Amino acid sequence: MEMLTELVDKGLRAEPPTREQALAVLATGDDDLLDVVAAAGKVRRRWFGRRVKLNYLVNLKSGLCPEDCGYCSQRAGGQTGILTYTWLKAGEAAAAAAAGTAAGAKRVCLVASGRGPTDRDVERVATTIAAIKEASPEVEICACLGFLTGAQATRLREAGVHAYNHNLNTAEQSYPEICSTHTFADRVDTVRAAGAAGLSPCSGLIAGMGETDADLVDVAFALRELDVDSVPVNFLIPFDGTPLAGQWALTPQRCLRILAMIRFVCPDVEVRLAAGRELHLRTLQPLALHIVNSIFLGDYLTSEGQPGKADLDLIADAGFEVEGAGEATMPAHRHEPVALRKRGAGTDLPPNA
Ligand code: SF4
Repeated sequence: MEMLTELVDKGLRAEPPTREQALAVLATGDDDLLDVVAAAGKVRRRWFGRRVKLNYLVNLKSGLCPEDCGYCSQRAGGQTGILTYTWLKAGEAAAAAAAGTAAGAKRVCLVASGRGPTDRDVERVATTIAAIKEASPEVEICACLGFLTGAQATRLREAGVHAYNHNLNTAEQSYPEICSTHTFADRVDTVRAAGAAGLSPCSGLIAGMGETDADLVDVAFALRELDVDSVPVNFLIPFDGTPLAGQWALTPQRCLRILAMIRFVCPDVEVRLAAGRELHLRTLQPLALHIVNSIFLGDYLTSEGQPGKADLDLIADAGFEVEGAGEATMPAHRHEPVALRKRGAGTDLPPNA
């Protein structure tokens, strides 16, 4: 396909496709699927080689959330039967994080349910980070605590947090359909606050919530516009007891096309395969490794993943290698914090690429 050749050329220069090209990737047929994966694979290898970064999720606080995100098993009034608990103790979190790093995880993601932390919560997390760093000094810490003020973001960076995750989840125009208690703009503000404080912005999406192809392309370009460093791609797990229970809109082929579209729109950014990969990609998971350069290891937030050993076998069997603690994930031109980054300055990339 001629279009794929052009997308690869652009991706190798860290340039995005046009909106029409991104839509066309989602509209490709099964006969072209392997060509799409191979094209996205060339872009992936340009920026990330054959490395796979492993992430491990530690759930600091579960359930009891006042927000009503329709996809979430921890939402207000949800009848999902998940385990609910308030703030894991620092030692418990450090032990969980150490288990993740022992299994090869380079990044530990500390997740708390809820609208956002109080300043006291942030101090509690700072104590937890100190305990994790003492046990696992090399580990890269990402926090995911909800809406954040600029001062809280700065405090987290000072406490040793490297990245902050706050997903956009879906396109701005569709956001009211999945949540009524906050807006897309609220989420954008937190991603910006994290970046402005010197944290590495991590923000992604959830596919399979009934969105259109245009919605997926719009959220991909919104993430590019925010210049995030990592994009977790979640595939909806339609939990019983949530409004999206019974929503089965994905096939493994569709998941691969979505991942490829994200890779073309965000060529030099860490694209992470997150929730729902086992459920929706199933036996095609090895093909996804040709597109993404990062996965969650083992079980994660309110769902069961594959055990760590199976993930490591998956990576080795597909011809990839686990990224080591001493290796830089991001290409050199993304080493500066986003707030200081000037694309084109001192890099081989064109301005505004
Ligand atoms: S996604 Fe976060 S804010 Fe929304 S309901 Fe779930 S825990 Fe609460």
